[in-house]
Amino acid sequence: MLKNIPQNIIQKQKILLHVCCATCSLHPYFLLTSLGLEVTFYFYNPNIHPKKEYIRRLKDVIAISKKYNIPLITGRYEVKKWFDLTKNFEQEPEGGKRCTLCYRERLDKTARTAKKLKFDLFGTTLTISPHKDHNTINAIGKELESEKNITYYSSNFKKKDGFKKTIKLSKSLNIYRQHYCGCIYSKHKISQ
Ligand code: SF4
Repeated sequence: MLKNIPQNIIQKQKILLHVCCATCSLHPYFLLTSLGLEVTFYFYNPNIHPKKEYIRRLKDVIAISKKYNIPLITGRYEVKKWFDLTKNFEQEPEGGKRCTLCYRERLDKTARTAKKLKFDLFGTTLTISPHKDHNTINAIGKELESEKNITYYSSNFKKKDGFKKTIKLSKSLNIYRQHYCGCIYSKHKISQ
C-alpha cells in the first residue's frame, strides 16, 4: 500500500519549469518543491535583448541553480526566429498580441523539450508577473498540453503575495532585477 512506502521511495513528479529570469523563478521554485515536485529549470528566452542583457539574466539563473542545486537546461538563443515571429507587432502594447506570440513561442519550446526528455509536467514562471495575465498564459499552456500530449501545470504564482515574496528573496540574494520585460520594444517603452 502507498502509505507504507517510505517517502523517499515514492517517485516525485518531474516538472520542466520555464524560467524567464532568476528573480521570477525563486518563489515558484520553493512553492513547487514544497508541493513535492522535482523541478528542473528551462531557460529559453530569445525575446531578451540586447544580448548583454540576455547573458546577464542567464548568469543569475545559473547562479541560483548552482546555489540550490537545481538542474538547469538552457535553450538556444533564437533571436532571428523571435523577430520573425513578432514582425508587424512591434507597436503592440505590453500584454497585447506580440506578448501572446512571445509566451506561446517560449511555452511551445518548453512543452516540446519536456516531452522529449520525459518530464511529467511543464510550466512557466511567467505568471508571477503583475504585468502578465495568467489566464492568457494558462490558456496557451492548456492548448499545448493537448497538442503535445504532456500535462501543463496551470499557475498564478503572483497570488498570495507571490510577487512580493520573490522580490524579497531576490533582494536578500542580491540578484539583479531588470527594469523592462525583455524585448527591445519593452526596453524602448521605458526609456521614452
Ligand atoms: S513585452 Fe515581454 S512578453 Fe511582451 S513581447 Fe516583449 S518580451 Fe515578450
